[in-house]
Amino acid sequence: MSNVFYRKLGHALPKIVRAKGVYLYDEHGKRYLDACGGAMVTSIGHGVEQIAEAMATQAKKVAYVNGTAFTNEPVEALAAALAAKAPPGVDLAYFLCSGSEAVEASLKLARQYHVERGDSARTHIIARTPGYHGNTLLALSASARPHYKAVYAPWLLDVAMIDAPYPYRAGPLGEAAPAMTGEALEQAIQRIGAERVAAFIAEPIGGSSTGASVPPPGHYARIREICDRYGVLFIADEVLTGAGRTGKFFALEHFKDRMGQPIAPDIITLGKGLNGGYAPLSALIAKRTIVQTLERGKFGGLVHAQTYSHHPVAAAAALAVLGYIEQHQLVERAASTGLALLKAIRSGLSGPGASSIVGDVRGIGMLAAVELVADVKTKRPFPRSAKLAETLVATAREQGLVLWPNVGHADGVNGDLVLIAPPLTISNEETGELVGLLGAAVEATVAALPRNAREDTHERTHAG
Ligand code: PLP
Repeated sequence: MSNVFYRKLGHALPKIVRAKGVYLYDEHGKRYLDACGGAMVTSIGHGVEQIAEAMATQAKKVAYVNGTAFTNEPVEALAAALAAKAPPGVDLAYFLCSGSEAVEASLKLARQYHVERGDSARTHIIARTPGYHGNTLLALSASARPHYKAVYAPWLLDVAMIDAPYPYRAGPLGEAAPAMTGEALEQAIQRIGAERVAAFIAEPIGGSSTGASVPPPGHYARIREICDRYGVLFIADEVLTGAGRTGKFFALEHFKDRMGQPIAPDIITLGKGLNGGYAPLSALIAKRTIVQTLERGKFGGLVHAQTYSHHPVAAAAALAVLGYIEQHQLVERAASTGLALLKAIRSGLSGPGASSIVGDVRGIGMLAAVELVADVKTKRPFPRSAKLAETLVATAREQGLVLWPNVGHADGVNGDLVLIAPPLTISNEETGELVGLLGAAVEATVAALPRNAREDTHERTHAG
């Protein structure tokens, strides 16, 4: 009887009426432990009053001004706070609402930068598979999600895809594989023609698509060198990993160049954890030199207009979230608690059922993933028809645990993993509860597996 056009049709969704810390409560009083912060969003926990107060105060002062005519206090302060955290020279922040919008605007910025320099043949984008950058058409074009793209394929751009660094599935070459060293990018640039490539976009550490996969230490030094050599802009998509999730403010900080210096991307995108779910706010942070090229150029700014960009109340929320992260040292906490979380997940998944399907448990900071396979020795995934990740997530939710599923990463069709990315504030006791619920949900999922669920994936796939 509802008038809501739900995101999932044909399922009744529990109605959440209250949330505090790591817990959600539905209208019947059922409690859920939010082990993935919604969609890796809730960085500081639910129901933090000082964020709500900061938003209310700003809404009373100035709720909205248009970014073409005015600036405002929280936007100025938030931009300064982000510039202080980003590598030197990457210090101009442009605010939008969603991660997809930040990616969309970053790719447009890369294109406009080249056009303004008179280098307008640079039309190509290179991205990685598996990888995800959002759902607006340009961001979706740069995403390797066949099941999201199929219907809209005629409207999407042709973005060149290279293999993502994915240690668990790197194959026999291991760290020497071109995807792992970074050479895959140089090969793609040479194949397309360097003078035609505008930008390379990548998640510095795998988000939902490769589930917390961490490239080898020298990877981004090589990526930076390749981008510099060919004049290609490097966009680090930190929508999921940014704002402390991985135990550094930016995931790219885990990597250094050959001189031990931080690696500066040309553009960084942020979203999710930056606002912690309190307001829809995302950002791109660009190198000042790139923006100066636009300032001297034909249009006097980025040719990209959105009514709700640079929004005062959304910026006030993010500023308060950043303040909370600093006040409680949550980035440092994510690094140390993350290690304990990973250890606890591993021991929580040592039961007989779990041992038969858990192929890998990996993570960095408070971003962890459990990859599920039909055969732990060969890493053969379950056939997609088994819907393993979806079944596990539904079973867990029934038992009061919220997990994030991802599918298709093993070969574009098959592959099941769940992400565990709780609020950075989670306590030891809550971690214990999370792991207990996770173990029970995995055991229940294995116990309910149909007898033919582990049949050869490829036979099943080819047979349709
Ligand atoms: N980029 C990355 C790395 C993401 O993980 C996501 C969302 O999951 C996006 C971009 C898109 O963000 P949004 O869903 O806020 O549009």
